[in-house]
Amino acid sequence: MIVYLTRQARFSAGHRYFHPEWTEEENLRRFGSCARPHGHGHDYLVEATVRGPLDAPVGMVINITELKAALQSALEPLDGHFLDRRHPLMNDRNPTTETLARYVWSALEGRWETCFPHNVRIYENPTLWSDYRGEESVVYLTRRYEFSAAHRLHSPVLSDEENREVFGKCNHPNGHGHNYGLEVTVSGEADPDTGMVMDLTRLDEVVHRQVVDRMDHRHLNYDLPEFEALNPTSENLAVVAWSLLKPELGDSLVKVGIRETDRNYFEFGGEE
Ligand SMILES: [Zn+2]
Ligand SMILES: [Zn+2]
Repeated sequence: MIVYLTRQARFSAGHRYFHPEWTEEENLRRFGSCARPHGHGHDYLVEATVRGPLDAPVGMVINITELKAALQSALEPLDGHFLDRRHPLMNDRNPTTETLARYVWSALEGRWETCFPHNVRIYENPTLWSDYRGEESVVYLTRRYEFSAAHRLHSPVLSDEENREVFGKCNHPNGHGHNYGLEVTVSGEADPDTGMVMDLTRLDEVVHRQVVDRMDHRHLNYDLPEFEALNPTSENLAVVAWSLLKPELGDSLVKVGIRETDRNYFEFGGEE
């Protein structure tokens, strides 16, 4: 019987991205404000998920104090330090969440006989995190965006009465609004020059152009041709956002998540 458990840990560090062979201009173009010479800092959050068989007499996969200690010793050389590619644990890579996730994974790997890392997630802030799952050099990068939009749930194939029954107050004729969260996950090998799966400046540009700028402060039913004949549920919104991003992001795109409210989350990862 395999059981998974997740432990959180935190550390704070300053960092800066740069490439020593690029001009200052090129560094700024690729890394944006992350290339500024004196750096900036984050309060990082680490979520380490491990898996293993239950040790029957004690009912544990691993004593959580051992996992806590392993994470502490992995993070101690980062906590309160300045991270750039010259830091000894960064192996000449920029200290991106991609680089940090792989480092924390390597610190947990091979440590125990019956307990193994399953997923390491590093949050730089609530809008940017990476996951590493031990798939050679493949890393997952997720970026969270927000937009506000109105919608009305209404299906043209149902009668007005049936629409009221199925969608309740979400069918009110003039609609209502949400502050949507849009979570876009891409994956791939981190580029050794940048330490990133995809340049954030590029990802942000694509997501803003294709989705956020088109939907923010709009009425989805009336302003978006995609919803002319399609009920703008969050399920459909996830599928539409996927189809708008897929031509630009290609095989890098892993999934699109729509957070309609704190309580409702929807996700689409393409047709298997
Ligand atoms: Zn940063
Ligand atoms: Zn709604």
